[in-house]
Amino acid sequence: MVASQLAARGIRDGRVLATMAWLPREWFLPPHLADEAYDDAPLPIGNGQTISQPFIVALMTEALAPRRGDCVLEIGTGSGYQTAVLAHLGARVYTVERLPDLLVEAEERFRRLGLRGIETRLGDGAAGWPERAPFQGIIVTAAAPAVPPPLPEQLAPGGRLVIPVGDLASQELVVLERGPAGLVARRAGGVRFVPLISRLAFTEEPWG
Ligand code: SAH
Repeated sequence: MVASQLAARGIRDGRVLATMAWLPREWFLPPHLADEAYDDAPLPIGNGQTISQPFIVALMTEALAPRRGDCVLEIGTGSGYQTAVLAHLGARVYTVERLPDLLVEAEERFRRLGLRGIETRLGDGAAGWPERAPFQGIIVTAAAPAVPPPLPEQLAPGGRLVIPVGDLASQELVVLERGPAGLVARRAGGVRFVPLISRLAFTEEPWG
C-alpha cells in the first residue's frame, strides 16, 4: 500500500509513509472487510460513514504537516484511522465526532493501540473546540459547502487548516495557512467525502 498507492503517487514525507506502514488499517474496519483493508479505496464503517482512502489520508496529513507536540483539531473522528496517524506522528489530537457509536469504537481502538495524546469529544465539530484553541493544525475529514467561520478563527499563527470544500458530489481539498499577512489558500486536488452535518455546513443528511 505504502509503495504502490502512496509513494508512487508523490507522498514524500517519510514520517507519514512510516506511520501508515505501521498502522494496521484492518483494526479500523468492520471484521468482514478485513480482507479489503489495504485496497485503494474508502470503505464503509457503519452509520452511513466511511474510512478515507489511504492516499487521501496521506495527502491530508502531508498538507497539515504536524510537528511533534503540535495541537491538532480533527473534525470527523469516524473510524479513528486519521486520528491514529496524527497521534503516532506525535501531535496532540483533539478529535470531534457527532455519532456516539463511531466515537466509542474509535476510542476502543486508541486504547488497543496504546496511543497517547488523544482527547475526544461528541458534538458538532464545525464549531471547533474553542476551549482548546488555538491549534497549529485543523483537519476536517467531512465535506463542507464553505469553510465554517469558527475554524480559521481557532488557527494559531503559522497554522494550517485542511478541508474538503464543495458540493455533495465532489469537493476540492483546500489548505488555508495563517501567514503574517493573513490567511492564504491553496488547492490540493479533487476529493469526495461524506458531508459535514451542521447548521454551519450541510444541514441535513442527504439521504434523510
Ligand atoms: N477521519 C475518518 C473519516 C470519517 S468520515 C476516518 O479516518 O475514518 C466523516 C466523519 O465525520 C463521520 O464519522 C461523520 O459522522 C462525521 N461528522 C459529520 N459531520 C460532523 C460534525 N458536524 N461534527 C463532527 N463529526 C461530523
